[in-house]
Amino acid sequence: MTPEEFRRHGHEVIDWIADYLDGIEDRPVQAEVDPGDVRAALPEHPPTEPESFDAVLDDVDRVILPGVTNWQHPQWFAYFPANNSYPSILGELMSAGLGVQGMSWVTSPACTELETLMLDWMQELLDLPEQFRSTSESGGGVLQGSASEATLVAILSARHRATGGAVNVDGDTSRLVAYSTSQSHSSIEKGLRIAAIGTDRIRIVPLDDDFAMRPDALDEMIRADIEAGLIPFFVNSNHGTTSSMAFDPTGAIGAICREHDVWLHVDGAMAGIAALVPEFRWVNAGLEFADSYATNAHKWMGVNFDCTTYWTGDRASLLGALSILPEYLRSAAAEAGAVIDYRDWQVPLGRRFRALKLWFTIRCEGIDAFRRMIRDHVSMTQQLAGWIGDDERFEIVAPHPLNLVCLAHVAGNEATDALIEAANDSDAGHFTRTVLDGRSVLRISVGARTTTPVHVEHAWTTLASLA
Ligand SMILES: *Cc1c(COP(=O)(O)O)cnc(C)c1O
Repeated sequence: MTPEEFRRHGHEVIDWIADYLDGIEDRPVQAEVDPGDVRAALPEHPPTEPESFDAVLDDVDRVILPGVTNWQHPQWFAYFPANNSYPSILGELMSAGLGVQGMSWVTSPACTELETLMLDWMQELLDLPEQFRSTSESGGGVLQGSASEATLVAILSARHRATGGAVNVDGDTSRLVAYSTSQSHSSIEKGLRIAAIGTDRIRIVPLDDDFAMRPDALDEMIRADIEAGLIPFFVNSNHGTTSSMAFDPTGAIGAICREHDVWLHVDGAMAGIAALVPEFRWVNAGLEFADSYATNAHKWMGVNFDCTTYWTGDRASLLGALSILPEYLRSAAAEAGAVIDYRDWQVPLGRRFRALKLWFTIRCEGIDAFRRMIRDHVSMTQQLAGWIGDDERFEIVAPHPLNLVCLAHVAGNEATDALIEAANDSDAGHFTRTVLDGRSVLRISVGARTTTPVHVEHAWTTLASLA
């Protein structure tokens, strides 16, 4: 493709994206294809000669779009939001255009310095503890690809702090023990497995009636493990679980972690962004105890995937765990300690210029736009919860402080499952099932940027008619 062709097709693609997003409401929410349909519609073997870009775009319309699930749709009530915005898309495009590798400061200074500044901006916007600022004595922030990567980095940092780098502390098997609840995201167990912490060393801490960790139970478990000669090293506290948006009591958990010198990670992947809004800053409660914290700009803040903001208050353990310095990566700036080399803050070596899309979004959309959006989502959710609460056929089965409502049909699991299936076959939107305390649950997550009260009301009237 020549520069002239790139200009022409580039304009076409921008128009295509604007048409797609502007007209998204006319599309179905869920992909209308059967397994294998997309592949079967494309050639089995790669082309031997270059094709025209027009032919490629035609195939996008003909084959790819029908196979796309439309996460930006206003009737999107499934999983969690994954919002994008026009400035973010342009930042992503520019990152691709620059094509830099930001593994070290010296490999592209602006890539590192803008990222550090963005993490400090976000620390300020979310009103997070000072220990996370890059200018603090021992902390700092970094963009990770996903909350799952952030969790893994936290676990590896915790393991380093507990062992000084020698993993097999008693010769052949690790005595390290990790703690979390059954409501934690799957990435916690996955990260622990990758770090070679076996399932027999992962403690599932009992829950209270609101699906939150019981700190008294955590304390008992930690004491019993120490008594048995094991080494408690990592606790994950949830700020907004995926199933039900439960908040673990991080203040009480943090005091226990301090007492026993256990790393405290807080997973606020979805809900942490609510702290952009002053009246929702309660979501930060207890973070002053956290050794590490993650929230996703790529869920509820208009920045397209991937953009997890991750902070630690213990940079030394992070670098101890992940810093390896081959000859070819040495630089005078790094050796003088004047710069950050973010390759030491993540699992991969190479890294994209992700900070651009966060910077573009904050500057061009403005934070007030997201504050308004978050407030609107929460108030729509509370209105919805009111309607559900007034209908005797339904029961709300978990607290709903933000933008998620969990409901069950009073007639039992079969009725709830049938409702979820019927709702997903209707035009009311896309909904996800979960299980809480043995009960089937329909989750309604209100978080697409395009969702308005009209869409939530349509979802509700449809659910009410199907129940
Ligand atoms: C979405 C979510 C995750 C995983 O986020 P990724 O960025 O997709 O890895 C982890 N924890 C919670 C609470 C989440 O909501």
